[in-house]
Amino acid sequence: MLVSQLIAKKRDGKTLTEAEVNYLISGYTKGEIPDYQFSAFLMAAYLRGLDGKETFYFTKSMLNSGETVELSSITSPKIDKHSTGGVGDKVSLILAPLVAACGVAVPMISGRGLGHTGGTLDKLDSIPGFRTDINLEEFKSNLRKIGVCLIGQTEEIAPADKNIYALRDVSGTVENIPFITASILSKKLAEGAEGIVFDVKVGQGAFLKTFTQAKALARSLISMGSKFNKKMTAILTDMSEPLGQTVGNSLEVVEAIEALKGNWQPDLKEVTYFLGAEMLILAGKFKSYPQAYQLLNKVNQDGTALEKFRQVIKLQGGDTGIIEDYSRLPQPEVKYEVQSAQRGYMKKIGTEQIGWLAIEIGAGRKRKEEQIDHAAGFVIRKKIGDRVQKGEVLAEVHCKEQKLAEGIRDRLKECFIFSQSPVKRPKKILRRITSRSESAVRNEMLPGID
Ligand code: URA
Repeated sequence: MLVSQLIAKKRDGKTLTEAEVNYLISGYTKGEIPDYQFSAFLMAAYLRGLDGKETFYFTKSMLNSGETVELSSITSPKIDKHSTGGVGDKVSLILAPLVAACGVAVPMISGRGLGHTGGTLDKLDSIPGFRTDINLEEFKSNLRKIGVCLIGQTEEIAPADKNIYALRDVSGTVENIPFITASILSKKLAEGAEGIVFDVKVGQGAFLKTFTQAKALARSLISMGSKFNKKMTAILTDMSEPLGQTVGNSLEVVEAIEALKGNWQPDLKEVTYFLGAEMLILAGKFKSYPQAYQLLNKVNQDGTALEKFRQVIKLQGGDTGIIEDYSRLPQPEVKYEVQSAQRGYMKKIGTEQIGWLAIEIGAGRKRKEEQIDHAAGFVIRKKIGDRVQKGEVLAEVHCKEQKLAEGIRDRLKECFIFSQSPVKRPKKILRRITSRSESAVRNEMLPGID
């Protein structure tokens, strides 16, 4: 087969066979197809689309590029969650130890930053010494010892996703339902979990902006996943503003630890608890949300979940001292406050643009090989619905140099859109989709957040 012919076939809108998909995926994974040809292929597929069969071939081929972890020796239920990508989304850092502290094993394979969104692996890399590139044996051994382990795609697990993900990140080919489906499932099917909860982000800061697109992604994940016999639930959650208060790697680690200490931003708590309850329900531990919340609350309040996070850091080689002393995490040279030039109510936040600005100041990559500044990011001081006075701080910029902060100041300010009349806070949990049903989320299913 000739790669150039396959690119042209897709460019002309034709359907690829399973053999052709396998040839492309394995050729790129082995380094036999260069970046320039694979990115041309990705763009052709992005513009022309992949049908259900091609998406299935992609998922299967990416999954088969590595091994599948065998976890039958771990007797507790094994459940994971995966987010489709958001701004300020540090939920995995909190949820993995929180749910593991409830007696459910969480084998978690995560990704790096993608497009304008951050990635769990980059956040974990801010912890000095923390290793996310551990081998399969260590992954299993950690799961056996403490019931949770967070790693990235490796040469053993979903290596195709590791390579393709990095190329999509810098080639304008992220926001595509078949690619996102194959990328997420190839990791998640490999990790040995029996069930997965998908956090499908919807809104301005998500890859898929509309409810209709996000629902299509949720259905694609669930229908592809069911072909591999996994239990799956998808929750559509709001991404019309950054989640919680911070955007950027070290900053998000601190916010996650604060949450594990019981100091939550309300929106972060609502999303984390809802996903946690879904994981406990999928694990068969509970039938009702209030029971699940009770246990999540207990392990959060009595410090068990924080202890679990300490064990994760220790077993994965990181500095556990960061839990008490945040100054051991990478620190910015500059902290720069951006003030409001007007008063009113916060109506909208340009969340995607905030993600791109975070990359501009070093929190993400502009090119594949670029190093991240783990200290860079934003503290978002105002959220949708907040009342704002002129001169109040909208956001704090953390970065290496004053001129970087000044260079984005005006564009950051423009991300905050005001109204003169009161604005309702957005609902965070929007819809629940399983292979059998789709439903709105009723109030009695939500955690009471104080
Ligand atoms: N998360 C992933 O792992 N892959 C995507 O393509 C998007 C979000």
